[in-house]
Amino acid sequence: MRKKIAAANWKMNLTLAQGEQLINDILQAGIKLQEGQEVVVATPFPYLLKAKALLKNYPGFYVAAQNCYSEKSGAYTGEVSAEMLQSIGVDYVILGHSERREYFQESNAMLAKKIDVALAYGIKPIFCCGEPLEIRKAETQNAYVAKQLEESLYHLTAEQLKQVVIAYEPIWAIGTGLTASAQQAQDMHAYIRAQIAEKYGREAALGLSILYGGSAKPGNAGELFACPDVDGGLIGGASLVAADFTAIISKL
Ligand code: 13P
Repeated sequence: MRKKIAAANWKMNLTLAQGEQLINDILQAGIKLQEGQEVVVATPFPYLLKAKALLKNYPGFYVAAQNCYSEKSGAYTGEVSAEMLQSIGVDYVILGHSERREYFQESNAMLAKKIDVALAYGIKPIFCCGEPLEIRKAETQNAYVAKQLEESLYHLTAEQLKQVVIAYEPIWAIGTGLTASAQQAQDMHAYIRAQIAEKYGREAALGLSILYGGSAKPGNAGELFACPDVDGGLIGGASLVAADFTAIISKL
């Protein structure tokens, strides 16, 4: 069966001390993960080593970066490579978050390169896709997301695709308090899975974890995660509060 994942995306928030406290509070809650369930914490780069050290004795708890660069190494001042992330034990990397696409001009083609370099160093991409409000209003969200998948993922082999997690994050729901309804999330997740089945076959599609992101919180996570094609969540704001994030984990 495919993995169920609760992933925290801290974005550009918290000091090191606050981040340590948050991880310790989550661990102190004594969550018992079931077989096939994972918790992933995506911290800012400077905290990854510390987060890894705090989580390493907790099976099912993993660390993610929020980005990496598309080249292997070299004269790219200020960038962080997948090899560097591998060298400190990072497990996952979020790629293609809508904030990266919007504020840092990350294109589908650049993301295809980032996916390749992450996979080359054994880091699992959490690939984000999702449409802006005007596309949702025009009811063309399926074609929009299909293009994101096609241009960033479809060069992968079936073997490589097994390492990828997809996060569907409708941009109009991120940080806005507007959540996609469970039906809207389910419809898009089922569509994504059907697209993957068409390209890679049914077995690959059934094994793929597809997370929902966008104002997920304790009050709506249960309903969202109960949808047959929603395999967990990528959580922003609510992941910064230990009680909220642990409550969300408990809904997996
Ligand atoms: P919010 O949960 O704050 O809406 O953010 C979602 C998100 O962007 C996670 O990557």
